[in-house]
Amino acid sequence: MIEHLNLPAHYPLRKEYAQYVSWVAQNFDHLVDYGTKADRIGVVSESGEQFYEVGTSTGRRYRARSLVLGTGRTPYVPEPFSGATGRRVFHLNHYLPRLAELTRDGEPASVAVIGGSQSAAELTLDLSKRFPTTRVRNLVRSYSLRLKDTSPFSDEGYFPEFTAYYNQASPEARRRLDTYMRATNYSSVDGDVLDELYMLIHEQRLDKEQRTFVDGSRAVTALRESDDKVALDIREAVTGESETDEFDLVVVATGFRDLGPGPHQESHPPLLSGLVDRFSFDEAGVLVVDSDYSVRGTDENLPPLFLNGLCEYTHGIGDAGSFSLLSLRAQTILDGVVKSVTRELPGLVRGGAQ
Ligand SMILES: Cc1cc2nc3c(=O)[nH]c(=O)nc-3n(C[C@H](O)[C@H](O)[C@H](O)COP(=O)(O)OP(=O)(O)OC[C@H]3O[C@@H](n4cnc5c(N)ncnc54)[C@H](O)[C@@H]3O)c2cc1C
Repeated sequence: MIEHLNLPAHYPLRKEYAQYVSWVAQNFDHLVDYGTKADRIGVVSESGEQFYEVGTSTGRRYRARSLVLGTGRTPYVPEPFSGATGRRVFHLNHYLPRLAELTRDGEPASVAVIGGSQSAAELTLDLSKRFPTTRVRNLVRSYSLRLKDTSPFSDEGYFPEFTAYYNQASPEARRRLDTYMRATNYSSVDGDVLDELYMLIHEQRLDKEQRTFVDGSRAVTALRESDDKVALDIREAVTGESETDEFDLVVVATGFRDLGPGPHQESHPPLLSGLVDRFSFDEAGVLVVDSDYSVRGTDENLPPLFLNGLCEYTHGIGDAGSFSLLSLRAQTILDGVVKSVTRELPGLVRGGAQ
């Protein structure tokens, strides 16, 4: 701890944070069935009571009087990458396992990273350090990589009070808040990562061996896959010039889908697709989530269902965009679960509800 406090760094290392998260998770191992994918959720009735039934990849089914869905957001993969069929084009969610699989026989000659986010910049850096001879090209649609808004005033959007403030706001006011808060988390990069990347490129240029490139104003218009390469057609958005470049791998760091009515958003989590007629949707066609994170059912006998970490549309940036409010949200959801279970089963001891 003393060494940690003495670090000349504003942010902890990802590695250190990952170790911390793993340590926390180990404390809950006995409550988790790892290696089990939930692939469908239905509602079944028994003795006049309704239950959720969750089907899984292991064949095991789980029945529940209440359900919390915390699957994280759906990766957003735009055209033309969404049409890719091979393993050489993948979303950042699959970065480490896919990289290990595809570079087993040695370093790739070239890798493209698509996007202008914190993830894209970190991946560009990681690839440049991991593979000392690989050409790494980060293609960014806007002019270049933008500094994240780290104003302490803006970061109050991650305070617990912001959730209630956002939740009671009108849809128009929420969208205005979204526009303001966007640069605190999306399509922008922390200063330390920008500086490190810039210095790395500068040093490569000094050595006349530049192999890391950040190319802004670039739109990828088409993609062609062969067995060992991916060809990208790239257009410079300002000059209109076009080129084709070939890569061994393409990492798509284009973000995630939120709940919402927009073209990059989704009306409900895909796992709930079989149940959409059981839930209420707002005038924009999006699932209605109440302030305690419960999804509003069309039938009052439907067992309670809560969304955890999927509610940026209704609860603001602190909900899905960061870890900051995770524990408070978990408490709110736990209170909701206990309340609903004790209401249905009045004899149940509060601490015994699971
Ligand atoms: C590259 C990157 C960097 C980030 N950096 C920061 C940061 O510096 N600080 C910060 O505060 N936040 C950061 N975030 C955001 C933070 O990671 C998220 O807010 C947080 O992880 C959300 O937690 P979650 O539990 O809701 O979802 P997730 O962490 O996405 O966890 C969801 C889990 O559900 C599992 N799952 C999904 N579907 C199923 C299914 N059908 N069956 C079974 N399991 C399933 C997934 O495998 C996953 O383990 C970052 C995010 C990314 C992508």
